[in-house]
Amino acid sequence: MLSELEQLARGVVGEARVQGLRPVGATLAVPGLVDGGANFVVRAPNLGWHALELPEQLLGLPLEVDNEANLGALAELWRGGALDVVHVSAEAGIGAALVVGGRLFRGARGFAGELGHVPVRPDGPACACGARGCLEQYAGEQAVLAAAGLDLPPVDRIAVLARHAEAGEPRVLAALEQAGTALGTALAGAVNLVDPAAVVLGGAYAELGEWLLPGMRRELVARALVRPWPDEALTVSALGRRGPLLGAALVTIRRIMDDPGSPTLAGAQPPG
Ligand SMILES: [Zn+2]
Repeated sequence: MLSELEQLARGVVGEARVQGLRPVGATLAVPGLVDGGANFVVRAPNLGWHALELPEQLLGLPLEVDNEANLGALAELWRGGALDVVHVSAEAGIGAALVVGGRLFRGARGFAGELGHVPVRPDGPACACGARGCLEQYAGEQAVLAAAGLDLPPVDRIAVLARHAEAGEPRVLAALEQAGTALGTALAGAVNLVDPAAVVLGGAYAELGEWLLPGMRRELVARALVRPWPDEALTVSALGRRGPLLGAALVTIRRIMDDPGSPTLAGAQPPG
């Protein structure tokens, strides 16, 4: 796994150099439970990662690790988003970041925001987490593809799904409607708990907003105690799937700004 990661990083460093850029750090966005301070991935079921300790450096660059939903939310925050937000980030798995008063709420153990494992139906299908009827079983990529009757290779499935939806295929539209309803049901619980100014749909699912939002909005209107639920309080991230990547870059930039005299900036070069 680590060698694949290094290979990927080497390609990116090479591309940056061609453009005359000098990489000064790396941040890894992980779809799972992460102890960022220790570069430790507790669990990322969709990657098959479990209790994985990542090094402090990658190709000689300082490496930081965080949850991808958190990084997506940071990117939104830094571009001037609301200070109290539930930021949903979904593709293979479903995660959320809670931003409270302009800061990420990570919880006592760093596990906050695991929206994908909020129960939608307590007696529903078994989930990889060991419980039943979790949101991911209704709105996760795998569940949506199965409901849509699509068996796609694991390459950019969301974009392909969007094309099928654009073509108006009834089974695909019904699957997305069901996913939107499940997302809205789970989010209504989160909204009633933390009273955010806005709910933002980010990650790859931002590309499916056109089909997911109506069901999400309907459930929020019916279940959230904020009445009437304001239309503008449910939006799609303009950053889409680039959000977590931008957030990851911003983490490195902030680290450099906090410590401009760091060895990396003073001229240490990562190996090519
Ligand atoms: Zn679960």
